[in-house]
Amino acid sequence: MQFDVAIIGAGPSGLSLARALSGCGLSIAVLERQQEAALENPAFDGREIALTHLSARLMRELGLWERIDSSDISPLRDARVFNGASLFAMNIDHRDGEQDELGYLISNALIRKAAYGAVKASPDITLLTGAEISSIRTDPQGAFISLKNGESIEARLAIAADSRYSETRRAMGISASTHDFGKTMMVCAMEHEVPHQHTAWEWFDYGQTLALLPMNGMRSSVVVTLRPGEIQQLMAMPEEAFNRAIETRFKHRLGAMRLISTRHAYPLVTVYADRFVGERFALAGDAAVGMHPVTAHGFNFGLRGAHTLSTEIKAAHAKGADIAAPALLARYEQKHRFATRPLFLATHAIAKLYGNDTPPARLLRFASLRLGNSISPFKRAVAHMLTEATR
Ligand SMILES: Cc1cc2nc3c(=O)[nH]c(=O)nc-3n(C[C@H](O)[C@H](O)[C@H](O)COP(=O)(O)OP(=O)(O)OC[C@H]3O[C@@H](n4cnc5c(N)ncnc54)[C@H](O)[C@@H]3O)c2cc1C
Repeated sequence: MQFDVAIIGAGPSGLSLARALSGCGLSIAVLERQQEAALENPAFDGREIALTHLSARLMRELGLWERIDSSDISPLRDARVFNGASLFAMNIDHRDGEQDELGYLISNALIRKAAYGAVKASPDITLLTGAEISSIRTDPQGAFISLKNGESIEARLAIAADSRYSETRRAMGISASTHDFGKTMMVCAMEHEVPHQHTAWEWFDYGQTLALLPMNGMRSSVVVTLRPGEIQQLMAMPEEAFNRAIETRFKHRLGAMRLISTRHAYPLVTVYADRFVGERFALAGDAAVGMHPVTAHGFNFGLRGAHTLSTEIKAAHAKGADIAAPALLARYEQKHRFATRPLFLATHAIAKLYGNDTPPARLLRFASLRLGNSISPFKRAVAHMLTEATR
């Protein structure tokens, strides 16, 4: 099978990239190891994805936004950052970002379903599911992918969007800086008594990190970060005991709480690829930049990278130029690194500092939050970074 572009991985980034390339005369293949039913009706995975204004615009352009019911899109008006047991919070107001809201929250399963629907509606995209890759190699002429079922695929450009643990990145000999925080994040949806006012909480408590992401109604996505063994205990608790344990962890600030979904655990491992491109090859989504979720930017960067790379490819194709020229891939690498590296490093530093409970760190945590809250230009900068507003 021959295509212009072969994308490995039909996660939200791979599907968005395929859709971004659609409609310009290129033939696109998306290779996914899962079966088609898992893409058509993705299972709830606990993740509520905070999307910036830029991401909302890109999702509209890709035809994903219109496939999501407006009642499933929850506005994120403000954000509050707490430290330790204190009730003091750094407030990031939507007015700091000069918008009606900081962003939006949508369940990852709904984003994936919308992206699948948009791809299926694109006649120039071939989705190959149940595809197990046995080898990949590239040369100056093209990319050559062999599947375990004996089929082979040739493309002018191969793009790996096969998660932060990308096997394709490894097979192509691209190293990555990986950091294991030694913690696990548990996510689930809960109802609670006290209204959230569409405000997100990031609570760097001592011995635990909590987050609350407001969903429409009296419901929120609850995120608890602890050592893996402690998360295992929470995951295994009967529902009633779990509800009481979470109420206690939130110091009853939300009143009575009730689990309304399955619970999901994710090890906290971040990844930044040392290179984003190779010969007739590029990395996209988490395979390039696997963010720490605390600043909620993983998929936002996935969409931004898809936009950057697809814009370069479509411009080259329109001129009749090579869609995998080294200069083109180098431009993508440079732009995406520039867009992602500062926040990746800042997120890492925040996660390290606010995950540290030693007395000097506690002092620094307290002082930086108070100082941050009192400096309006700082808060405006944070709001602009979080919203990625373009007006
Ligand atoms: C708890 C949590 C909360 C998050 N919150 C936010 C948030 O608020 N905002 C935000 O922007 N981001 C958030 N993220 C990050 C976001 O979920 C990821 O950035 C996004 O899912 C990455 O998409 P992807 O398509 O690159 O990779 P994935 O979603 O990992 O998809 C990869 C796909 O590739 C397939 N695959 C893997 N290996 C192969 C192979 N060898 N061959 C073929 N197919 C393969 C997989 O089956 C999968 O379908 C969060 C993440 C977590 C864990």
